[in-house]
Amino acid sequence: MIIVLKPGISKKQEAAILKEIRKRGYKPHVMRGVARVVVGAIGDELTHQSLETLGVVFPEIVESVMPVQKRYKFVSRAAHPQNSTIQVRENIIGAKKFHIMAGPCSVESEQQLLKTAVAVKAAGATVLRGGAFKPRTSPYEFQGLGKKGLRLLAKARKETGLAVVTELLSENHAEMVAEYADIIQIGARNAHNFQLLIAAARTGKPIMLKRGLAMKIEEWLLAGEYILSNDNCNLMFCERGIRTFETYTRNTLDLAAIPIIKQESHCPIVIDPSQGAGRADLVIAMCKGAVAMGADALLIEVHPNPAEAWSDGTQQVSLEIFAQLMRELRPLILAAGRE
Ligand code: PEP
Ligand code: MN
Repeated sequence: MIIVLKPGISKKQEAAILKEIRKRGYKPHVMRGVARVVVGAIGDELTHQSLETLGVVFPEIVESVMPVQKRYKFVSRAAHPQNSTIQVRENIIGAKKFHIMAGPCSVESEQQLLKTAVAVKAAGATVLRGGAFKPRTSPYEFQGLGKKGLRLLAKARKETGLAVVTELLSENHAEMVAEYADIIQIGARNAHNFQLLIAAARTGKPIMLKRGLAMKIEEWLLAGEYILSNDNCNLMFCERGIRTFETYTRNTLDLAAIPIIKQESHCPIVIDPSQGAGRADLVIAMCKGAVAMGADALLIEVHPNPAEAWSDGTQQVSLEIFAQLMRELRPLILAAGRE
């Protein structure tokens, strides 16, 4: 921590602060400027009592307290300089191969899911997405098929060989969802639900952690820390847009999150352009941007008949548009040094 002392403080006040810093387990290093004194407190902030409160406890002496150490540990690139890779059935996410996860927002019926799964597989997807438990804003909207939806996902996996990613909404369902999913999705609305994160981590399944609707990147990384610190190192982050003042799109897809997550963390990053804009007509362009910026995978909502979808109809692309998207993406994936 860097502790900046107020100008004009007495020697006695300075000594009191240095004593307090030592008491909390740090070694103070005093830097004397023309107008004020700055103290560097040497010690591990993750294992010693925090110095954050110094400004509140000594308001006449301390001007500001600035951390120099990150609050997260296991998710940080410092802890693991190489990129982490995640084995999902026969696929490895976070390595050279770029992955496309695609499928409907919600699992609606066997016919809808299988038709979509076969088409996305033929176009080159490796993971099938589909919500069986849906976090809907209104309680009167379709809530998902629940366990029946999970069974349909397992059936689609068996028929196509695609891996399955699906959302876990409740701690009570952790074991059940883990039984069917190859990747457990934690949705944006639950990104701050720490007990759910712990329950998901403890299933041992790979976790895809969406960014919360109003989540700062640091908070998102710390949410990821709940997964890794609970003995599950198979974490991927998923940027899906954040709430801003903009109304042309449902959310604002923060593509800057890609290089930032890559700098700060070793975990793979997935981009969801579907929730990201809420508009099917923007999906192709946003996918291209994500590939160019270094994402490891895409999560795309695809429906055989988006106009009749039971959820998120405006943002799901048709099977034909998905095939076109895959064709247009291929040269970009290669140009980005991926396969
Ligand atoms: C979804 O993937 O359909 C979904 C509900 O995602 P999010 O949690 O990002 O809104
Ligand atoms: Mn959706």
